[in-house]
Amino acid sequence: MTSIFFQQRTVAKAVSCSGVGVHSGKKVNLTIKPAPVNHGIKFKRTDLPDSPSITAHFNMVVDTSLATVIGHDGFIVSTIEHLMASFSGLSIDNALVEMDAYEMPIMDGSAGPFTSLIKEAGIIEQLDPRCFFVIKEPIELKKDEKFVGIYPSSTYKITCTIEYDHPLIERQSYSIDVSDEVFEREISRARTFGFLHEVEDLKRYGLARGGSLDNAVVIDKRDIINEDGLRYPDEFVRHKILDCIGDFSLLGMPLLGHVVLNRSGHAFNHAFLKEFFAKKESWETRTIHNVNDLPQPP
Ligand SMILES: [Zn+2]
Repeated sequence: MTSIFFQQRTVAKAVSCSGVGVHSGKKVNLTIKPAPVNHGIKFKRTDLPDSPSITAHFNMVVDTSLATVIGHDGFIVSTIEHLMASFSGLSIDNALVEMDAYEMPIMDGSAGPFTSLIKEAGIIEQLDPRCFFVIKEPIELKKDEKFVGIYPSSTYKITCTIEYDHPLIERQSYSIDVSDEVFEREISRARTFGFLHEVEDLKRYGLARGGSLDNAVVIDKRDIINEDGLRYPDEFVRHKILDCIGDFSLLGMPLLGHVVLNRSGHAFNHAFLKEFFAKKESWETRTIHNVNDLPQPP
């Protein structure tokens, strides 16, 4: 039994939310609207003259140091990774995201609120089939202790391992077959996390202005500072999978492959995507109409 969707999908109606940008501290209103087939995910800045828009694609990424930022022609859209994870996790191919500031709202630091919002809109199947990236040969990238690899698979799988020299995290490993149900239940609610000293440094440099215990898990030397504790015992590694789903959504099409990550983050995931596009002989793009067209498990 597979839970892969073969037709393109979009939201059934427009839905809105608002919040603050985690780095800018700026209030932003956001509306997700239905879009036609082969449109992709586009972000539109309604606060700028002529309301320019940009496609959420790897080749539009301009910065990954603190968050994923896309930009083009002198304007940017920042911190798109959690909403992008929701679109990818729910297999939404086409949507127009309108916003009236440059940074996405951080909400509660997870993809839970975006996932609920999209489900509230409803999801409809469209007439055209989806085109997938199908992995033919392994692609691997390693630097020091960081590693990302992708391997042939008949489904989209992610296995992630993190290791921190901290008693609350240490080594955590988690593996999922990405489907809308598993994403919603096991991944979407996992929040961003940070160490107290890092948060203080960011604030000193005028960053993380909108950051608070309402939108991140914050850890000091020994404890979790948030009063309510964790949402999952291994919330940290689950959030890294959430980020990975958001980063890999910038391929622009759904993926059939097994992604393996070790101590990676946004910047190294993007270095891997660059390697991915350089290794064109290792994958192909294929329209898949039904289960019989799926690649055979290796
Ligand atoms: Zn994140």
